[in-house]
Amino acid sequence: MKKLEVRKLAADRIRKGYPALEDYDFQRKGEAEEGDFVKLVDSSHTFVGLGYIGTEKKTAGWVLSLDETDQLDAKFFDRQFRLARQKRTAFYADDQTTAFRFFNGEGDGVGGLTIDYYEGYYVFTWYSEGIYKHKDLILQAFRVAVPDFKGIYEKLRYPNAPIKTQFVEGLEASEPLAVLENGIRYNVYLNEGWMTGIFLDQRNVRRKIMEEWGLGRKVLNAFSYTGAFSVAAAMGGASKTVNVDVANRSKERTREQFEVNGLDPEGHEIRVMDVFDYFDYAKKHQLRFDLIVLDPPTFARTKKRTFSVEKDYTELVKDAIQVLSKDGVLITSTNAWTVSRDDFFDKVNEGLEELGVDAYLMDEQGLPEDFAVSAEYPEGHYLKVFVLERTS
Ligand code: SAH
Repeated sequence: MKKLEVRKLAADRIRKGYPALEDYDFQRKGEAEEGDFVKLVDSSHTFVGLGYIGTEKKTAGWVLSLDETDQLDAKFFDRQFRLARQKRTAFYADDQTTAFRFFNGEGDGVGGLTIDYYEGYYVFTWYSEGIYKHKDLILQAFRVAVPDFKGIYEKLRYPNAPIKTQFVEGLEASEPLAVLENGIRYNVYLNEGWMTGIFLDQRNVRRKIMEEWGLGRKVLNAFSYTGAFSVAAAMGGASKTVNVDVANRSKERTREQFEVNGLDPEGHEIRVMDVFDYFDYAKKHQLRFDLIVLDPPTFARTKKRTFSVEKDYTELVKDAIQVLSKDGVLITSTNAWTVSRDDFFDKVNEGLEELGVDAYLMDEQGLPEDFAVSAEYPEGHYLKVFVLERTS
């Protein structure tokens, strides 16, 4: 294994358990190549950790072990997968939820790789070319640790990857594949681009919408994608939902999610349009909603404008408040890892303040348990959700 010297501050951090490597951590990163397994040492050549080089947006690689006697072989990955499986015993046992995250990157010991479980099928997402170079080794370990898998798919999420998604081995899943989440059915497509039709990290929010926040309410689901929040609301007794997403495919997918749950899509609106245009329309027609969900992407460019959580979330909140009924509930969510929980809270709060509207924080949600986060890497906890009830 190549030896690579890390700077003093990096060495201290790594020894404390920080799993991410960055370019400036290395004295001479040029000595290593993408995908190399490396032995990290300090300036006096003392062992610091074992890791790999893999270029992602923010990281240059990940630490895999602090034990010098570890070998980064199939056995090593086999152990990580077994531990991951043990941690999720309750998920495997739950017949009302058949889709969850099986392996969450650094939270499960290997940064740069996540694996999601859908009804016996496993979807690997590789976040760098470096980790993808070890695909054979990692799959070899996976087959031993999880021998009962039905089939494997993969997504390649790094720049210049030759493909976005493909079937890898085992049985092919039906398209769509029906999964359950807290008893609600969702149709997923394992082999279409990077996304499957459902964002598993919002499971707890959907559950609360179904159990508590949806009943009797008229719902606006902004950035609705396949309408998952709306289906949860409708199953929880919402009177009506309006779904707004700029992507064409959202229409047919949202209809499908309603239908497979025995809900009549005709009782709901599915609008393919820019959320900001919809707010203009809703304000003009003085529409009011009792529950509004804001779950935008971190960054989006449409024909007319760009949206970024960092710059535009306060405006989004202000738009929403103007069509929220007096005792309505507003769910604000972001998965932007560059915006901290407190900064996000400020952005939401600012929107309320600028309009002079009172609300209290009724609930706060984050990543569910299967999205394991390393205690030493709180940045991994990217999902932030505030639930506000308007009081004036
Ligand atoms: N809230 C969804 C996930 C949203 S994914 C869920 O829980 O399932 C982000 C979605 O925002 C994408 O479907 C994308 O098409 C949509 N989008 C991005 N910019 C938009 C805009 N300006 N107006 C409407 N939709 C937008």
